[in-house]
Amino acid sequence: MITRAQIEKLGALHAVEPTMLSLHLAVPPAANLTARAGELIAAAGAACGQPLAARDRNWVLEKLPPCARDCPGRTVAVFACAGSGLFEAIPLPCPLPECGVLGVRLHIRPLLLAWQRCLVPDQASSDVAWWSEVPARRTAATILAMPPGGRPAVGLPACLAAVSAGPVQTLVVPVDGLVPGYECGRCGTLSLDADTCCPDWGTAALPVPDVIEEMVSRVLEDGGDVLVAGGGWSRDQPGCPNPPAPYTSAIRDPCACIR
Ligand SMILES: [Zn+2]
Repeated sequence: MITRAQIEKLGALHAVEPTMLSLHLAVPPAANLTARAGELIAAAGAACGQPLAARDRNWVLEKLPPCARDCPGRTVAVFACAGSGLFEAIPLPCPLPECGVLGVRLHIRPLLLAWQRCLVPDQASSDVAWWSEVPARRTAATILAMPPGGRPAVGLPACLAAVSAGPVQTLVVPVDGLVPGYECGRCGTLSLDADTCCPDWGTAALPVPDVIEEMVSRVLEDGGDVLVAGGGWSRDQPGCPNPPAPYTSAIRDPCACIR
């Protein structure tokens, strides 16, 4: 069983270089998990422009066979960083798309989605995946319906500004997609551009491989809620419309209407 505390702990970890590896792997009953993991690690390195060092890659691959033995037929989330000795393999309660991500933080959005599925009361329902995203859809709809004075933030730039400004109560994000951006090394302001937003920018802008993951970690750390939406959004229902893309949205202050 996945817990919020476990996710928060993983979300709080970070590295200076993009050496934190997140893998979501489907474990077939009999197949070479190590080879598949190697492919995902290579793709992750290519995507972030900085491949994982061969020694670190081998360190991770050597630890995988026991996961394959213990979790046949399931999706396993693997979080690893050779430099800090981190290796955590978490069997997920549901199949999720395979992915590999290298960054300065762990890619915990798929794990949050898996946790949301654990919270659906009727686990036997064929619509568990869809139900698991209803809170995210409803919250997004609520945020979109708020008057401008209600302090909602809609869209990625507005959410980056809100999270940079202070604690955010609720953040709705897509499960996939990495958005590179910048973080101010002095005040922590997040932005998509290196030359806007912060007076310190000229000297202190640090590249961040994925600003969405950065926001997720900060909101969790501040005790806020992060709601994730992914594959279940294709079906529309009254009261839970698909929000327009980009559907990153946030509420800055405690707001009674969604509680
Ligand atoms: Zn700054």
